[in-house]
Amino acid sequence: MSLQGTKGEEYIDAFPRFKKWINECICCHRKGYDPNMPENISVVEGNVGAKKIRQYFEPLSVNEYKLCEVCAKLVPTQAKKPDLKNIPKK
Ligand SMILES: [Zn+2]
Repeated sequence: MSLQGTKGEEYIDAFPRFKKWINECICCHRKGYDPNMPENISVVEGNVGAKKIRQYFEPLSVNEYKLCEVCAKLVPTQAKKPDLKNIPKK
């Protein structure tokens, strides 16, 4: 169980406008912040929002199919669209 994850969920629930910086893998449902997130993501809070997100989440990059690096390897690269039914469930 990850307390860090729970806090992060609460944080982005409280500030839904920061959700655009949170990537979620459609396969394993891991969540993390966009590694390209700038220092200042909010005009109102300055860099506080980005700092909190970096504190609560791990960096997670997803590809164009919203798959994390780990899951992207499970999806056949020759397929134009990943067939998610063929990905083994954990
Ligand atoms: Zn994944």
